[in-house]
Amino acid sequence: METIQTDVAIIGAGGAGLRAAIALAQESPKLRIALISKVYPMRSHTCAAEGGAAGVIKDNDSFEQHFHDTVGGGDWLCDQDAVDYHIHEAPKELMQLEHWGCPWNREDNGSVAVRPFGGMKIERTWFAADKSGFHILHTLFQTSLQFPQIQRYDEYFATDLLVDDGRCQGFTAIEMKSGSMRRFKAGAVIIAGGGASRMFPFNTNGAIKTGDGMAMAYRAGAPLKDMEFVQYHPTGLPNTGTLLTEACRGEGGVLLNKDNYRFLQDYGMGPETPKGQPVLKTMELGPRDRVSQAIWGEMQKGRAVDTPWGKCVWLDLRHLGEKKINERLPFVRDICISYLAMDPVHEMIPIVPVVHYMMGGIHTDTKAATSLPGLFAAGECACVSINGANRLGSNSLVEILVFGRRAALSAAEYVAAAKPGNEAALVAQADASQARIDELFARSSGTESIAGLRKEMHETMGDGAGIYRTQEGLAKTSAKLAELRRRYQNIKLHDKSRVYNTDLLTALELGNMLDCAEAVAVSGRERKESRGAHQRLDFTARDDDKYLRHSMAYFNGLEPPRIDYRDVVITTSPPGVRDYSGEKK
Ligand SMILES: Cc1cc2nc3c(=O)[nH]c(=O)nc-3n(C[C@H](O)[C@H](O)[C@H](O)COP(=O)(O)OP(=O)(O)OC[C@H]3O[C@@H](n4cnc5c(N)ncnc54)[C@H](O)[C@@H]3O)c2cc1C
Repeated sequence: METIQTDVAIIGAGGAGLRAAIALAQESPKLRIALISKVYPMRSHTCAAEGGAAGVIKDNDSFEQHFHDTVGGGDWLCDQDAVDYHIHEAPKELMQLEHWGCPWNREDNGSVAVRPFGGMKIERTWFAADKSGFHILHTLFQTSLQFPQIQRYDEYFATDLLVDDGRCQGFTAIEMKSGSMRRFKAGAVIIAGGGASRMFPFNTNGAIKTGDGMAMAYRAGAPLKDMEFVQYHPTGLPNTGTLLTEACRGEGGVLLNKDNYRFLQDYGMGPETPKGQPVLKTMELGPRDRVSQAIWGEMQKGRAVDTPWGKCVWLDLRHLGEKKINERLPFVRDICISYLAMDPVHEMIPIVPVVHYMMGGIHTDTKAATSLPGLFAAGECACVSINGANRLGSNSLVEILVFGRRAALSAAEYVAAAKPGNEAALVAQADASQARIDELFARSSGTESIAGLRKEMHETMGDGAGIYRTQEGLAKTSAKLAELRRRYQNIKLHDKSRVYNTDLLTALELGNMLDCAEAVAVSGRERKESRGAHQRLDFTARDDDKYLRHSMAYFNGLEPPRIDYRDVVITTSPPGVRDYSGEKK
């Protein structure tokens, strides 16, 4: 097997991976950097982000307020030292992007414009129309091209981490165009592999978001933290799950039930304000968990709208007018016309909550180090944790920058002191990884179909791990996933060629999703309280005495994960009541 030797290898070339690569190249210019991605970098999911990125920039705002919005929004499960670092670095990172050419929207006076976002009680979200992720990723990608020491490996699929002497020292990856495996031998590895929401049937995520990075770290012994916290975004298209950004509401869009009533005021997010004039803190600018739960409530009460795609509520943008929609939400208009044949300038749009983001991920400390020496993680695959039990919209695009860079600094420091590994042991592990793939190709006895198992996984995740959960539902889903993971050992490949074998890659992705999904269901089953995005019908209150703790899922072979807990870091904000009523206290 060919070996590629490098100082730091990064798995993932989305926002977090590219930011890490640039930081390494700029701040440690002598290091060799390998940047691996299963898709061309610009196809990473960061490209799909619409609404924007949060950072304090205006005089009416403060770090303190960004801190409190984030910690309260996360239902006090955020590690406050990590949040503190995040909010202070955020404006620096966004300004850095500005200097690299990111075309942020402007105020009339030429300064950077910001828009309101859910759960952010002061407007602080920088944006580039409703294509913010595209512009951020493009800016990072073009900047990365300046550095010859960043060696790209596009369309390489990472499969297994190589760990010897208790240290991560590289990984194996399949070169997709030939199907042959390579060993990446690295002083340090950064995982920036993105989220895992494709484990759910109905989601906003690109097809590549299958939790490969999380699963690889998990199997190598690094625990997954807070996996039970899965974010539903309130405004997805009912037929495809395509996202309509929260900026629709930030710009003044309203949510209505079948009686044309702004129902959020009945769910602690009042009082009603004139259309088009959102009062910050209230109504449509409530946080995602609360707004999604309110939509579910309207469905239970029979006040939702019946559509050909099931029960929905309305998103009304018409009062914003064509000019503003074209200027601020052109992509939203395009999406509605292309996918629903409806024009938001003239019609109300049916929307429904849809799985969007994983708050949980690979456990890291504030320096982006995992518990496995030599392994660092950043971006959606990691849980540092600034998002706690519910991420606020527009914090993630900043997290990938802030902690992408942080992971790079930590990896560079680690590499400087790292000892060479045991070559024979690492080669043997890489060979074992190759042997597993070869066995899959050679197997003729497999009876399980990849699409069939994926369908069953989707059904059980949708049934048992949705917006509202119960002990019975989570136990059933956990048991089903344990069964699916066993049956997965007996899958069959239909395509036996080596060149661009998508049958093989889909099989590997399914294995990764099943591992992550089981961590979600079992962590959820064990958390007997309601907090943020984890809402239990049988334990409806938050229970700080027992559960003001992070769950930590440890891989346990074909057995369900072992769940342990870890204290939340509280520095200045003790747990309190989340208040989005807009009333002055
Ligand atoms: C539709 C949508 C809109 C969003 N809008 C916003 C917003 O407005 N504001 C906000 O803050 N957040 C938003 N988010 C969330 C945010 O965009 C993501 O959390 C963030 O971009 C993730 O970045 P990342 O670098 O961690 O991962 P990604 O951008 O997903 O990149 C992952 C990378 O890992 C690589 N990879 C994965 N597995 C492998 C493997 N096995 N081998 C090799 N490479 C691999 C992929 O090829 C890719 O390059 C949105 C998300 C979605 C889905």
